[in-house]
Amino acid sequence: ATVDDAVAAFAMPAFDNSAMDGYAVRADDIAGASAAEPVRLPVVDDIPAGRTGLVTLAPGTTARIMTGAPLPDGADAVVPVELTDGDFSVDHVPDSTVGFSSGVEAGKHIRREGSDIARGDVALPAGTVLGAAQIGLLSALGLANVAVARRLRVVVLSTGSELVEPGKPLQHGQIYESNGAMLTAALTEAGALARHIHFVPDDVADFLERLDEASADADLIITSGGVSAGAYEVVKDALGGRSTEHGGPVEFVKVAMQPGMPQGCGHHLDPAGRRVPIITLPGNPVSSLVSFEVFIRPPLRAAMGLSPDRPRVAATLGSDIRSPEGKRQFMRGVVDESLLPGVDGRLVVEPIGPPGSHHLRYLAGANALIDIPATTTALPAGSVVNVVVL
Ligand code: AMP
Ligand code: MG
Repeated sequence: ATVDDAVAAFAMPAFDNSAMDGYAVRADDIAGASAAEPVRLPVVDDIPAGRTGLVTLAPGTTARIMTGAPLPDGADAVVPVELTDGDFSVDHVPDSTVGFSSGVEAGKHIRREGSDIARGDVALPAGTVLGAAQIGLLSALGLANVAVARRLRVVVLSTGSELVEPGKPLQHGQIYESNGAMLTAALTEAGALARHIHFVPDDVADFLERLDEASADADLIITSGGVSAGAYEVVKDALGGRSTEHGGPVEFVKVAMQPGMPQGCGHHLDPAGRRVPIITLPGNPVSSLVSFEVFIRPPLRAAMGLSPDRPRVAATLGSDIRSPEGKRQFMRGVVDESLLPGVDGRLVVEPIGPPGSHHLRYLAGANALIDIPATTTALPAGSVVNVVVL
């Protein structure tokens, strides 16, 4: 995304030019022309695109002119070659005279100076994501260099001895690894450059080795799993309690939310001595992605100069809900997108799926997160709630 407004240092087009291949005329000169009585004018000049140093078109004359070529002073219209008896296909030499079988309105087939962008106009406001058309516009304005907030490089490192790469055979007790692909996709969708490092078993030495590898060219590391209260919490075991000179501290906390209670963040010291920010997400797939939406996506986009793009709207609950006391809950929900943008309170959101953090199926079916305050324990259908539209 651009950091500054891109301002046009000159008008676009920068000069009046022809919109057609044809003849530049003074409209008055061919005012009476008709098929029965064509007006014939001497062709005094030949103006291809890129021509400089033009002379004024004298009254009673015409100049052959190509699309994009500068209009000579004095001319006030262009007549397309098809409406004349001129023939451009024969050779490069213009005929000495040309006949016009109709008149032309003054101003016709001319692209006026500044008709696209006036000098001093903001062509692209700061924060514009540079896609093909925007890069084209910057080039057209002669802006060879612009300051941009670059896409951040984020590495995803999943942990868990039970995890098997999708596509490989699975033994009883093992599960397919899903957070890596999911978070990588979420990061890409948020505008970052994501890389997924293959998951590691719950072994501290192995994990730290992969972490060093991961941090080499990363702006941010995201891990999943190994941060809750179990006996084999590899991320916590490896990073918890580290001193600052080892890149720490990484702080592990419990956040009063559901899903996504165990969280951690801090720094990792890469082999080159760089402090790389690290965020440690919980392993349950729903917790992982909801935590990403709540904690990572908004600041990550801001750091890349991108504006928030998940609208928050008021919606009416379609069913009764319950919510745990003392925890802010992000429930999966479905809003009828055909109703967007909703009028406050009129958009209906239907909660879907049970609250358990392993129900990825319902997250995949949701298009909204219903944000239920920590103090709320139950709400009847018809209540107005705050919804994040995904
Ligand atoms: P953990 O946070 O490591 O204790 O994991 C919590 C739950 O999430 C366990 O059921 C894990 O098997 C599961 N889990 C952890 N990481 C992943 C992952 N990358 N893909 C799929 N499930 C995971
Ligand atoms: Mg685990």
